[in-house]
Amino acid sequence: MNAELRVIGCRAGSPGDGSPASGYLLKTDAATLLIDCGPGVVQELGRMGWIDQIDGVIISHRHADHCADLVALAYHRLFPHKQPALPLFGPPDLAETLSALDGIFGIPSLPTMARPVSDSFPFTALEPGESFTACGITIQTMAAQHPVPTLAMRFPQLGLVYTADGARTDALTRFAQGASLLVADSTYVESNLKNLEAHGHMTATGAGYLAHNANVQRLVLTHFADMHSREQAMLEARTQTQAVVEAALPGMHWALTG
Ligand SMILES: [Zn+2]
Ligand SMILES: [Zn+2]
Repeated sequence: MNAELRVIGCRAGSPGDGSPASGYLLKTDAATLLIDCGPGVVQELGRMGWIDQIDGVIISHRHADHCADLVALAYHRLFPHKQPALPLFGPPDLAETLSALDGIFGIPSLPTMARPVSDSFPFTALEPGESFTACGITIQTMAAQHPVPTLAMRFPQLGLVYTADGARTDALTRFAQGASLLVADSTYVESNLKNLEAHGHMTATGAGYLAHNANVQRLVLTHFADMHSREQAMLEARTQTQAVVEAALPGMHWALTG
């Protein structure tokens, strides 16, 4: 299967410094999946010309920096021309977020826009640990260590692992074992490390250590609290691993060969 992973956004918390919050496009022969849809992702997808190429959406967890642009994407698909609904996959508690977004941002006086998110994205709930198939692409999940239910994802046909948000654990090391491409939470560098474990994230050093122990070939650091720390993040990760280390930036992309 020919495939490519493309970074749409890689900033933690909010868009800024030239990057949307979390968003990745996985393009294969079978389909194009949007993985996470944080604020700024819809604008960047439009700028890159991919906005109308999406066949399905996977949301790792309900934190705003991973799902808030679902409202913008829903309205894009409803107005001015209605496009077909897209399958949406995510952890079970995302269902509550979707209906809350409809409650706040739906337009009850317009039947086509009363429930924009639910109507645009028929939802399949996944317990972390479940495997599933989205648009012909097989995806395994595990529960990331994060304050809300969060799906770390492995695409076994493609050699790709995405940690989503989460602390480094032995289970994550096993889950990422042998990946060709590991896209890893690297929210902090050591110098701005604050209360890391409580918030369930990794440092660049921790991501490097994970890559080393999981024997991955290529490590892509992402989810930066500070986009200006990307160079420092790569330096820190490289102290831990012989893997090729890169720091995500919108537009970067990699061929996936499994
Ligand atoms: Zn996040
Ligand atoms: Zn989060």
